[in-house]
Amino acid sequence: MSGAQAAIPPQPRAKQLRACLLCSIIQTPADFRKHGCPNCEELMQMKGYTDRIQACTTTHFDGVIGVIDPEQSWVARWQRTSKYVRGMYAVRVKGRIPDDVEAELESRGIKYRPRDQSEQD
Ligand SMILES: [Zn+2]
Repeated sequence: MSGAQAAIPPQPRAKQLRACLLCSIIQTPADFRKHGCPNCEELMQMKGYTDRIQACTTTHFDGVIGVIDPEQSWVARWQRTSKYVRGMYAVRVKGRIPDDVEAELESRGIKYRPRDQSEQD
């Protein structure tokens, strides 16, 4: 028996989580791959595409809030239906959505707001 070994703390699950660049919902990569983004899959089309998930989500986020009031979210404004789901959301998300998604938003008359700003909406 050699010396005692400190137990290695389990990796925080947060490390594996990714936040959607558009609506900032937080999910595991596996969930994004299986279901896409529950809010913006129509625009993002991540379901089943790992590289698309890499482009449309990020591990660089901070501040986690449990539930967003769908009525207060700007995402709710561009959705035709109010399927904005309750879940875990990041307060700030670093990065930008891909150009084609931004173009798609613009074609719907919506100005993309990067989620790394502190502006409130
Ligand atoms: Zn999303």
